[in-house]
Amino acid sequence: MQRAAPRLWGAAASWRRHLATGVTSASRGRSSDGPASVAALARSGAGAYVGGGGQPGAPGAAPLVVHNPYTGGRVATLSDGGAPAAAAATAAAAGAAAAWAATPTADRAAAVGRWADALDAAAGDLAAVLVAEGGKTLADAAAEVAYATSYLRYYATAAAAAHVDAVTPIDLSDGGGGTGVVTKEPVGVVAAITPWNFPLAMLARKVAPAVLAGCTVVAKPAAETPLSALALARLAPLPPGVVNVVATADAAAVGDTWMAAGAVRKVTFTGSTGVGVGLARAAAGTGKRVSLELGGLAPFIVTADADLPAAVGGLLAARLRCSGQTCISPGRVYVHRSVVGAFTSALAEGLAAAAAPGDPAVEPPDGATRVGPLIHSGAVHKVQALIRDALDGGATLVTGGTVVPAADSGGDAGHVVTPALLTGVTDRMRLFREEAFGPVFPLSPFDTLEEVVGRANSLPVGLAAVALSDARVPFGGVRLSGVGREGGLPGLDPYLELKYTLLG
Ligand code: NAP
Repeated sequence: MQRAAPRLWGAAASWRRHLATGVTSASRGRSSDGPASVAALARSGAGAYVGGGGQPGAPGAAPLVVHNPYTGGRVATLSDGGAPAAAAATAAAAGAAAAWAATPTADRAAAVGRWADALDAAAGDLAAVLVAEGGKTLADAAAEVAYATSYLRYYATAAAAAHVDAVTPIDLSDGGGGTGVVTKEPVGVVAAITPWNFPLAMLARKVAPAVLAGCTVVAKPAAETPLSALALARLAPLPPGVVNVVATADAAAVGDTWMAAGAVRKVTFTGSTGVGVGLARAAAGTGKRVSLELGGLAPFIVTADADLPAAVGGLLAARLRCSGQTCISPGRVYVHRSVVGAFTSALAEGLAAAAAPGDPAVEPPDGATRVGPLIHSGAVHKVQALIRDALDGGATLVTGGTVVPAADSGGDAGHVVTPALLTGVTDRMRLFREEAFGPVFPLSPFDTLEEVVGRANSLPVGLAAVALSDARVPFGGVRLSGVGREGGLPGLDPYLELKYTLLG
């Protein structure tokens, strides 16, 4: 546990070393050409990694084209194996399951540790992939690589292995029985389905504990961001079939195949609430275990006696991260009526000084935060619709909310929305009921603490009111924000079955 924090710094330092090569050269169209580089993944053209190798596309299937969200340019054209590739992945994972489960936990932990080493070595290439396919800024991409690596590091520790191997004796002698023991076994094949906003870290957070627990994995990344998942699988120093990835434009075909497969014993999903609930329903048919990491709409409360500069700084850091496209991003800002004016002015000033909208592959001016693109035009339209709905309802737009075209795309792409600050937002407006998933700061006044706590808790979601992100921390939501926890020792339990044995 002591190693997690130093490794984060190590990974960040390694990113800085790579900055001059992997990341910036990729943004100019070159790559370091390692197995996790944009160039190597694009050259391979394989949209599925199954049984330790690339898998051809389904006959006649259209390819999966990956676009750069900022430039609109084509990053890669991958084969789309669809349902047949999903079935092949299930077979590969099922075939590898017994031998992997029988591998000593210490050996599995060592393999996970080598996997972390491989990510460290490829940190520059991986960050370049995240910039190219997801539109992440250099800083956000480097942070995500470090975050993903921290999960592999954590689940390679002796403490994590001991949790898997723990044997709990139960003394039954007072009832005339002998001694029983409770041990743990891997649940079997796990289906992992992940979103585009943290395509590397969300998959690492699932596969690291699953693989340490002795499970094998079939994984489906979002169609927009398949390359980082394929890179993660290609870097895994694991036997063929232990980790398999299927990228596709037909999410339902792959999801349906896995939900119907009796061999798949667990599904772990991160994404939107509607899709997660649907998967849970489908998984029930074959009695699978289900973990869901779903959406949220985190409240941020500024009281009358708050330190306003600190509040502005905290809000800017949390909301500008990944251009507002994180599940724990503070999307509802409640400000005590007595400080609304002062807070609004300070936030507007802070935005003018700190937010630098533009090319995510170019470092921002000193002290500023680059605000990169939203993932696609649909995301831009949603942000615009939510702002329009608020304005129609009587809110005021103080600044921002315009779309900046990419410098080199003839105005076709860009998807960069300038941070929007709105006042007079009410609980009835869509901005306070749906995730904007963009750099929008909707402010609403409140009068009493009792009132604001009630309003903050009034939604059926409940993911975060503060930002926690560390591999040692069990993370997850309540109500419609999720089921189960990921990270820390509790993050291993969903992949382990308890087994009771009576001795003597
Ligand atoms: P999404 O639309 O639900 O997609 C998530 C994943 O599900 C993608 O891989 C998607 O594939 C797949 N999918 C969609 N329909 C499917 C189906 N019928 N069967 C199987 N898979 C299916 O969510 P998103 O827009 O990518 O991600 C944003 C959401 O994720 C937000 O709500 C955010 O709050 C949440 N999130 C939560 C956490 C957390 O830890 N709680 C972390 C990050 C994000 P395609 O993309 O190919 O359709």
